[in-house]
Amino acid sequence: MATVLIVEDEAAIADTLVYALQAEGFNTRWSTLAGEALALLEREAFDLVILDVGLPDISGFEACKRLRRFSDVPVMFLTARNDEIDRVVGLEIGADDYVVKPFSPREVAARVKAILKRMSPREVLPKPAEGPFRLDSERVRIDYHGQPLSLTRLEFQLLQCLLGQPERVFSREQLLDALGVAADVGYERNIDSHIKSLRAKLRQIAPQAEPIQTHRGLGYSLKLE
Ligand code: CA
Repeated sequence: MATVLIVEDEAAIADTLVYALQAEGFNTRWSTLAGEALALLEREAFDLVILDVGLPDISGFEACKRLRRFSDVPVMFLTARNDEIDRVVGLEIGADDYVVKPFSPREVAARVKAILKRMSPREVLPKPAEGPFRLDSERVRIDYHGQPLSLTRLEFQLLQCLLGQPERVFSREQLLDALGVAADVGYERNIDSHIKSLRAKLRQIAPQAEPIQTHRGLGYSLKLE
């Protein structure tokens, strides 16, 4: 059974989340302060963190940055304002999804489920990669031409998805699905940025090869040679 850590200073909001998540069979823990939550995350394993952006001690953004120094646990942000959303959608924060207040607790629970489904090893078990790629999903690692790629989790998931079906053209929407993030305009543009940085990392190892192909108006595919 998965355990979700809720970091939210408003008890009424936390309560509705606890209720909705427990109704879906999740264990929950609740923390009102980012500092307290980070200490907890260092000591214990959680399957997912729901993180409010507006917390009394430090912001959810700062908390997520600190969290990413030691953990890859999926993070879903709770945001209250549009200017916060822009930052959540930004690449550097390392969030997996976000919901805007006021939200439907049931929808949050459904999204939590979707993210965890994506993360579960059984679900992401791909076909063995061929060509220059070697994928080790348990160690969350992909070697390219015998060299380990240093990937963010989203880049890893993207490449893993493309590797799962070489030559198949994935639309941006399908790639978003594979990442388990909500499809909206900001995220579609983000797919392009992730692909761009992924290509740059591949090029560092093999400057001539261009394994990720762009199909104008359609999406991306992966060529194995
Ligand atoms: Ca708050």
